[in-house]
Amino acid sequence: MSEITWQEAEKRAGTRLDRRKRYGLVGKTLCESVTITGACSGCSDVGDYESAPHRGAGCEECGQRGRRRTKHWVPLLTEPVAHPANGGKDAK
Ligand SMILES: [Zn+2]
Repeated sequence: MSEITWQEAEKRAGTRLDRRKRYGLVGKTLCESVTITGACSGCSDVGDYESAPHRGAGCEECGQRGRRRTKHWVPLLTEPVAHPANGGKDAK
């Protein structure tokens, strides 16, 4: 995983990107950084599969807020998913 500038990410994606976001490469895959706020794992027992709003009791890890921000790298789609020539199978 290596972080790159949005300029470089734009070059690789071949399209305009949001320059406020952060980009990186995981292998050869262009990814963008997404911040997700969730329950703090240090003071809550909520499982990984739980998506309902939940917060812990508060601890040092989260600054007593019970919630914590985690950063994830999500692959950016750089190639067109649907081609007009293939019958428009995409519902959109
Ligand atoms: Zn906590």
